[in-house]
Amino acid sequence: MANLVYDYDVIVVGAGHAGIEAALAPARMGLRTCLLTMNADTVGVMSCNPAIGGVAKGQIVREIDALGGEMGKVIDAAGIQFRMLNRTKGPAMHSPRAQADKKLYQFTMKHRVEQQPKLTLRQELVDAILISGAGGSPALDVQASRPHHGAHVIGVKTAGDTLYRAPAVILTTGTFLKALMHMGEAKSRGGRAGDQSAEGLSDSLNACGIQLARFKTGTPCRLNGRTIDFAKCEEQPGDADPRPFSFATERIVQPQMHCHITYTNEKVHELIRANLQRAPMYSGQIQGRGPRYCPSIEDKVVRFADKDRHQIFLEPEGRNTWEYYCNGISTSLPNDVQAEMLRNIAGLENAEVMRWGYAVEYDYAPPTQLQPTLETKSVAGLYFAGQINGTTGYEEAAAQGLMAGVNAALKIKQEPPLILDRSQAYIGVLIDDLVTKGVDEPYRMFTSRAEYRLLLRHDNADRRLTPIGRRIGLVNDADWERLQFKERGINSLFGDLKSCKHEGA
Ligand code: FAD
Repeated sequence: MANLVYDYDVIVVGAGHAGIEAALAPARMGLRTCLLTMNADTVGVMSCNPAIGGVAKGQIVREIDALGGEMGKVIDAAGIQFRMLNRTKGPAMHSPRAQADKKLYQFTMKHRVEQQPKLTLRQELVDAILISGAGGSPALDVQASRPHHGAHVIGVKTAGDTLYRAPAVILTTGTFLKALMHMGEAKSRGGRAGDQSAEGLSDSLNACGIQLARFKTGTPCRLNGRTIDFAKCEEQPGDADPRPFSFATERIVQPQMHCHITYTNEKVHELIRANLQRAPMYSGQIQGRGPRYCPSIEDKVVRFADKDRHQIFLEPEGRNTWEYYCNGISTSLPNDVQAEMLRNIAGLENAEVMRWGYAVEYDYAPPTQLQPTLETKSVAGLYFAGQINGTTGYEEAAAQGLMAGVNAALKIKQEPPLILDRSQAYIGVLIDDLVTKGVDEPYRMFTSRAEYRLLLRHDNADRRLTPIGRRIGLVNDADWERLQFKERGINSLFGDLKSCKHEGA
């Protein structure tokens, strides 16, 4: 029976943080783009914490925005608490961060995708990559069976046997490849609680000659805020003068919400130590390595045994929900231990759990298999972006998505690739680190990774990168004019300063 076949210029698989930017960019550059995702209700979902930005990550979001990406604009619309971190340090350390209304963020992102001309969003589970060998065989009905020298991608096949053909395919599958969730001794298949796992794609990638390895990450429980005793917690307000992420947003007008802080204590640590053998990371049930800089609470108790408490940020997940995210106690311990932990934490003694914490283990593709354009070395036209490259974090994912989308589009247009230098952008540092050094644990960005960090400030991201975004067709007239206005102001001020010095001399 004939397969249904669709033709596009660029196909993006996965509509998470990487996939969205990877799809918007080529569509905005005029190419027919198709974004395939296994669940159209989860476009732009924040799998873990309801926040965007933070130290080094905030700079990345500003860079995405300066290049013409969407993340900064959407968090400005969906933010419920804005803070500039490290205000007491020098300007290079200032980093914007915002709590998000999770559902508003997700739906705003989905809406931006839906209204983008030349972009089709469709719910499909992709289970195979289609490649053609050096001989140019039109083997569209043959999925990858062995690595070819000179192989190039020709499309993807879905679980429903529909074929999507394109000369460029960008995979942004996040934590979903052969994904296994762990909650204590209990295991189930799925890339995120409530979602399924992508089982077929890993084998297809192996057949393309792509090597895969395993990483893990974890998330804490969510509580019903109605049952939290906030009087026992410290209040953490947002900034009195909230600063937007996007250079296009004039000001943040929406009211801000408070976060709260509480702490673990020795009793909780004792409980965790007594149950360590039930934590999949320690029992040997999880093989993959987790993020060292985003450790689970059981990791913290073991690694920082001298600490008598750890901070827990209670972060609202939105304006129209009572759900609170417990930032700081990510765990894969069984539910009974999680419940007992909460009963011993100030303010959470009577808190009702809405979702339990859990860990997820998934396949990623070691990123030294990529060129600096994020195109795979073994299959021309096949690009990877986001958590599939061994990174962690929404911002790191979005940055890679944008760059993969841009480079796929430039290649199709037969224009030179866009490779940012380490001295130009955190995004340049991120991609250079990935493709040259590889990863041995989930990679997240830090200011310390950037040797030119004094120059890579969030406040000059537009001056560094908007001219590039403009050249490749991602920056609109209004955003370009805003930068010109700023540059004229800076030049005129420099002129005034120079003449002052001259007159005084
Ligand atoms: P995702 O946001 O995961 O998006 C992947 C998309 O691909 C989804 O839309 C999915 O449906 C789709 N997809 C996958 N396979 C297919 C297929 N075959 N066909 C069609 N669609 C497909 N990050 C942190 O920074 N700190 C943390 O502590 C942290 N903890 C986490 C805990 C958990 C339990 C999870 C699930 C994630 C956690 N993350 C954490 C990771 C964070 O969610 C990711 O870094 C970020 O979402 C990566 O973005 P992405 O676009 O690469 O992938």
